[in-house]
Amino acid sequence: MRKIDVFDTTLRDGEQSAGINLNTAEKLEIARQLERFNADVIEAGFPASSQGDFEAVKKIAQTVKGSIVTGLARSIKSDIDTSWEALKYGEQPHIHIFLATSPIHMTHKLKKTPDQVVDIAVESVKYAKKNFPLVQWSAEDAFRSDPDFLVRVVKEVIKAGATTINLPDTVGYATPSEYGAMFRHLKENVPGIDRVKLSAHCHNDLGMAVANTIAAIENGADQVEGTINGLGERAGNAALEELAVALHIRKDKFTFGTDVKLDEIKRTSQLVSQLTGMAIQANKAVVGKNAFAHESGIHQDGMLKERTTYEIITPELIGENSTQIVLGKHSGRHAFKDKAIALGFELSDEKITEAFKAFKALADKKKEISEDDLYVLLTDQQIQEEEVPVYELKSVQVQYGNGSIPTASVSVISPDGDLLQEASTGSGSVEAICNTLERLVQGKVHLLDYRVTSIGKGRDALGEAVVNMTYNGKSTTGRDVAQDVLEASAKAYLNAINRQLVNERKRSYAKTV
Ligand SMILES: [Zn+2]
Repeated sequence: MRKIDVFDTTLRDGEQSAGINLNTAEKLEIARQLERFNADVIEAGFPASSQGDFEAVKKIAQTVKGSIVTGLARSIKSDIDTSWEALKYGEQPHIHIFLATSPIHMTHKLKKTPDQVVDIAVESVKYAKKNFPLVQWSAEDAFRSDPDFLVRVVKEVIKAGATTINLPDTVGYATPSEYGAMFRHLKENVPGIDRVKLSAHCHNDLGMAVANTIAAIENGADQVEGTINGLGERAGNAALEELAVALHIRKDKFTFGTDVKLDEIKRTSQLVSQLTGMAIQANKAVVGKNAFAHESGIHQDGMLKERTTYEIITPELIGENSTQIVLGKHSGRHAFKDKAIALGFELSDEKITEAFKAFKALADKKKEISEDDLYVLLTDQQIQEEEVPVYELKSVQVQYGNGSIPTASVSVISPDGDLLQEASTGSGSVEAICNTLERLVQGKVHLLDYRVTSIGKGRDALGEAVVNMTYNGKSTTGRDVAQDVLEASAKAYLNAINRQLVNERKRSYAKTV
């Protein structure tokens, strides 16, 4: 069986989605999980785009050893230099340089002639090659490029030392047969093409990203790029979990497969959804809540008699065991720590103590603690960044009656350490809380989106709130989890404000050093 490399870009193309902003600790946590998922390459970010991205990529390159870590760079020396500073810590330093090759991008965006584009591409690959053993070169908007120009530029960048050639369908316009044909054309016409890896990168604007990716493999691609849960700009990228499961389930047909650890899919998907605040649609293939639910009577009857009548994928295949009750009220610190280790968490004693406290508080309210709950508690500890003074919720109280005006009173500790209290009304309980918090945080808040979902099942499930807003004109996202949705909402609101404050502090720090 031909092995196909999996290149995950959840932290770069996925993070570019509207409404997502991850801090370094969260990115690191996702990268560590992608390593368990067994991605061959992890694109950790775009180091030259911001100080925050640089730090995250560097931290990931220093930490992750089981997967190759890469970062995106434009075809300019300063981007390549900055990338090297972040990526040189990796076991096999890898850079991903891109340049547009379609007439529409060359004329309007780059304002360069095709000859100039070839020169820039060659120069940047040669320059990167001085430090990086692995250089991936992407022809941005490859699918809408002239096929003969593509042959020409790819031939030249291979001569310059590129080790991987990526041919993206940047705007998600291709059909499977057309996208496959582009790979075949290059395979047949570029001298030396067998020396490099060919990579597919598909967007899902017409819902064909996974199908296009498979067509590329059938025509010579050795690497596939995509994201967990199909995150990404606009309609997103090819969903890696769908791709890996499709190749596995239909191995009777395909002569190729990936080394993805399929039983890490559920956990990877949930972690990405939790930390990005991007909910997974219930009917999403492989990882949706309903992906294994059989509703109709005829289907249920069939399933009871023989599971394979209607089930082609088992929940166990992707590591779905969320209904498992793992710990209860009387479980001790020792059992808790053992479970945390068994779940793959590496926490300091201090963090275990903090997580255990949160577990005890939850166990007082909730009889049985499931694995889903534990993941949330432990991940929350794992992603705590070093202490910087931010707003902290002390208490929230809401008065609500269907015949009266909802009123919230909230107290918070400010970044300066002062206890602040306010009360305010709203047309609903959540609005009353938001109005009160807006007075407390001293700034202009404009709420863009607000969502509450439950984690796991049952009437005592944890509630997760996600808040999208602009704070003093800049957009930010916050999320938090609590047993009560009103408390979760207040915490998510403050989380969004705090992220913005931390970012601002980092930026002013970057300017002073
Ligand atoms: Zn893309």
